[in-house]
Amino acid sequence: MPPMNVESFNLDHRAVIAPYVRVADVKVLPHGDTLTKYDIRFCQPNSEHLDMPAVHSIEHTFAECARNHSDEVVDFSPMGCQTGFYLLMAATPDVPATIELVARTFEDILNATAVPAANEVQCGWGANHSLEAAQSAVAAMLSKKDTWEEVMAQ
Ligand code: ZN
Repeated sequence: MPPMNVESFNLDHRAVIAPYVRVADVKVLPHGDTLTKYDIRFCQPNSEHLDMPAVHSIEHTFAECARNHSDEVVDFSPMGCQTGFYLLMAATPDVPATIELVARTFEDILNATAVPAANEVQCGWGANHSLEAAQSAVAAMLSKKDTWEEVMAQ
């Protein structure tokens, strides 16, 4: 297949082994600052996925809590395939440091008693949340943290 514009469209999703954290893109801006986009993959592509209330609650809680640990977080957004998230950082690539940020934020999600901004004022679908499902997905991914740096199946 010819190369495509989106980096992850050039990744063979049959060859990866989830969960993992990998650098999906690096962009050096005109004034020299660097943006790094990480692929935070929860689910094995094309064999499992997260339900939308879990995706939505992970998105809200991670986006809010990660900023307590780092000023470099630019964005945390779900993949449309519901198998993971993209984390955009205003920093050069550093997978081990990012894994620690993700793990610390996952601990926040596990300790949360409510989803931030899960209401009609602050969200576009405030009823579409499940903290329990989010915590279950995060616990499962966190239990495999030791292998997050392994992206491709052997
Ligand atoms: Zn929302």
